[in-house]
Amino acid sequence: MARYTGSVCRLCRREGTKLYLKGDRCYSQKCAIVKRNYAPGQHGQGRKKTSEYGLQLREKQKVRRIYGVLENQFRAYFDKAERMQGVTGENLLKLLEFRFDNVVYRLGFASSRVDARQLVRHGHFTLNGKKANIPSIQLKVGDVVAITEKSMDSPKLKALAETAGTRVVPAWLELNKEACSGKVIAAPARADIDAEINEQLIVELYSR
Ligand code: SF4
Repeated sequence: MARYTGSVCRLCRREGTKLYLKGDRCYSQKCAIVKRNYAPGQHGQGRKKTSEYGLQLREKQKVRRIYGVLENQFRAYFDKAERMQGVTGENLLKLLEFRFDNVVYRLGFASSRVDARQLVRHGHFTLNGKKANIPSIQLKVGDVVAITEKSMDSPKLKALAETAGTRVVPAWLELNKEACSGKVIAAPARADIDAEINEQLIVELYSR
């Protein structure tokens, strides 16, 4: 599948906020948002677009970039969220949080969602005991994610397993550090999604 291969820090600067796409660097003084918090490009420091449509569009792009989802796939998530019971915006975030790569990241087995996606693709995880390498798989309550035994020989995976839990693991997940695994114990509540997101703006954008 196609994916964005440019500078990810540029994406944060475009959205004017940290999207946490680069692991440890995002928490350091080297973060581009700390150093240059204005939009990239020649007119980056000029007037900011503030129309209603502009705000809605930026919010959608921001969320899309946080979760690393391409436009068509994002739209498909929105359509599915609309068909679900409950609040569409919250459903959308729930679907994004339930992605396999996001759960790996949330459990602390990857330094960023980009990293999580790559590790999943490379077959370093099992889902309910079976090898699974599709980052977009939708998880559900009761599912168990674990680092494969073979991958525990990799210094990178070993280090990640050791540091898992240093970031806050959301209440809807249960980390088992000893077993290098994690379980989905509930559906994510809106309050569990820590990024600054105004999902209503996305609903308004797609309702135009
Ligand atoms: Fe964004 Fe992380 Fe780059 Fe900072 S270091 S601009 S948070 S990707």
